[in-house]
Amino acid sequence: MRQQEAPDDAANPNIAVPPGMGHYCSMLWRGDRWALEWEPSSKSDPCGRLRDQQAEGRVAHAGLYSTHGLNNVVMRCRNGVDYWRGVGAGPLKSAVDEALASQRRGCVFTVAPDALPLFDSPFSASTRIQGHFPGGFDFAQGDVTVDVNGFDQPGLANAHIVESHGIDMSNTVAVNDHDGHDWTVPTGTPVLSVADGVVLLARDRKVPCESPIQKEVYIQHIVGSGEYEERFVTYYAHVDSYSVVAGQRVKKGQVIGLSGETGCAGGPHLHLAVTRLTNTASEYRRAYSIPSTDHPPMTSNIEPYGWEAPRGFDPWGWMNYPSGALSIDLWNPGQAPAR
Ligand SMILES: [Zn+2]
Repeated sequence: MRQQEAPDDAANPNIAVPPGMGHYCSMLWRGDRWALEWEPSSKSDPCGRLRDQQAEGRVAHAGLYSTHGLNNVVMRCRNGVDYWRGVGAGPLKSAVDEALASQRRGCVFTVAPDALPLFDSPFSASTRIQGHFPGGFDFAQGDVTVDVNGFDQPGLANAHIVESHGIDMSNTVAVNDHDGHDWTVPTGTPVLSVADGVVLLARDRKVPCESPIQKEVYIQHIVGSGEYEERFVTYYAHVDSYSVVAGQRVKKGQVIGLSGETGCAGGPHLHLAVTRLTNTASEYRRAYSIPSTDHPPMTSNIEPYGWEAPRGFDPWGWMNYPSGALSIDLWNPGQAPAR
């Protein structure tokens, strides 16, 4: 099968790290020894500091955390998983303290800021969004079911469709296992790249639907650099036409095509999904290729509005081990499309 590979890193115009971000590094050594280090600057090198101490270490995860905002931390050791959520380095410190106090072995830490403002709206300011299909990103895909009472929400203890506020959508018209957002807009509405990036693929794909050719675009976005960069792919589906080609650099706000209802669509809308390629539950950097006849597996897709329940922790980032990833609110202020 022909595969479309991501372009070399050298071809990617990296996005500058937003202010208020630091670097973290989760490292492992032989014999199940571990360390988590962090420094409150996006110029810092905590992995380098750890390597200076013990040279043969392996980076398990490394990336960005918010120095003054909320962060989410999953700690996975030989004997179980725990998670923390709190301000700045607080949850990172809590995780390390707990692991040391209970003498845990082989601990790997996954950290994600609650918010990393990178994305502008995929629509221009003059676009009137006519609707948003209920559900959006499903936090209970595949075999995962979620007890929404833990999020202070009414509903099932084994909900199988859960949206970002922890609301149980199981008994609604929401699509099960949906991995993105669907906004109703008239065919011909300009679709914009949400951030600077490189087009991985723009194609016509055969699908078993009434409209047999689905037009779709994949764009990779990289923020930061070196061992601490975070990578995302945005996927725009059902467009009527696209005006970019694989390998092309695009700027935030650049028109990449016109919306439509090609492929498996019940009406004119834009489907936007976000895949995380760095610091997923089990992987530091995820290899990504787009099959010639299908979209890539959606297991490390995330909710670009972030996890917003009144209580509780992002279930997708740890329950769907090894494939899940912690969601992040990726919208720039005032840019999140209406839901
Ligand atoms: Zn959709």
